[in-house]
Amino acid sequence: MKIGEVARELDVPTHVLRHWDDAGVVVPERLPSGHRDYSEEHVRRLRVLRACQGVGISLADVRLILHRDEQERTAVIAEHLARIRRHRAQLDNAERFLAHVIDCTHDLLTRCAQCSEYSNTQLRSPLDAGAPIDSE
Ligand SMILES: [Zn+2]
Repeated sequence: MKIGEVARELDVPTHVLRHWDDAGVVVPERLPSGHRDYSEEHVRRLRVLRACQGVGISLADVRLILHRDEQERTAVIAEHLARIRRHRAQLDNAERFLAHVIDCTHDLLTRCAQCSEYSNTQLRSPLDAGAPIDSE
């Protein structure tokens, strides 16, 4: 698959695909002409790359994640798993708070037990405390 076709299919500019190639993240084969030749596997990797970037994983870390022989791979994956789980816990807390506060009849947060509970939860946020990861 030519770079232009991949760019259209994934809606990614060709210069970005070239950058990802130069950075060693998704490196297509080369045709005798020197043009890039992307396989279905490359396109799948590009989709994974974009999904990872969408949840805040850097290009350097995506490269590690996509290459099984990288020594730091497991540590990088564990770090992102932990970060995503902390983030999810925060989102769950925020969802519970907002679902409550939309109907909360108290005029001050401090007069409502449930609202107060949320403010305490935020103070004890696992992101700040560096809490251990809960296994699921
Ligand atoms: Zn309330």
